[in-house]
Amino acid sequence: MAGVKKIPMRKCLGCMQSKPKRELIRIVRNAKTGVIQLDTTGKVSGRGTYFCPNEDCFRKALNKEKLEKALDTQVTEDDIERLREEYDKIGK
Ligand SMILES: [Zn+2]
Repeated sequence: MAGVKKIPMRKCLGCMQSKPKRELIRIVRNAKTGVIQLDTTGKVSGRGTYFCPNEDCFRKALNKEKLEKALDTQVTEDDIERLREEYDKIGK
């Protein structure tokens, strides 16, 4: 319909609910470096997944198997630790 803006929706990996993309935080496997990181700019290219910016969803999303499936790559404990650190920085 003309004049109706579609809000891009994405599913949170934690609670599995669809929410407006801009309300979620993106986890991405950087296509250039291969590093799994938080994407606070929304501009990192690569395969990504999303979670709600709260501790509960973040913790659920940090599940190794869930992440591996979502990002279609291997996820190590180091990756999870790094995401944890990056998220803690955002929260401060
Ligand atoms: Zn959520």
